[in-house]
Amino acid sequence: MKINDCIFCKIINNEIPSEAVLNTDDFMVVKDIAPKAPIHLLILPKKHILSLAEIEEGDQLLTGKMLYITKKLASKFGLTERGFKIVINTGPDGGQLVPHLHFHFLGGKKMAELA
Ligand code: 5GP
Ligand code: ZN
Repeated sequence: MKINDCIFCKIINNEIPSEAVLNTDDFMVVKDIAPKAPIHLLILPKKHILSLAEIEEGDQLLTGKMLYITKKLASKFGLTERGFKIVINTGPDGGQLVPHLHFHFLGGKKMAELA
């Protein structure tokens, strides 16, 4: 897939409308279009990386920042005490549909145990 065809790159470039809750130099956080929980956000790095399986050594700071954003979102949405679930679907077996690295941030209900 060409980067130009990437849905999440289009969201980041404002070519597809989205409900953004955070927009920084490196990241955009948007509401998922088909929420699976009362709060379902997508943490998108602005850099087009295919998946967690494709990150490079130099991406460690970026992915670390993505984890730190989860804590900030928990605070913003009042979920620090209740908790939340982060899902990173990776590749076909991981159920990844959009080939642009993203973390799902899910909260506001008790989530099923996956592991
Ligand atoms: P994946 O299965 O790749 O981990 O998840 C992709 C997610 O992107 C799905 O939860 C899906 O609902 C969401 N999604 C797909 N297209 C759009 C869109 O155009 N806008 C937003 N906000 N979310 C999208
Ligand atoms: Zn992309």
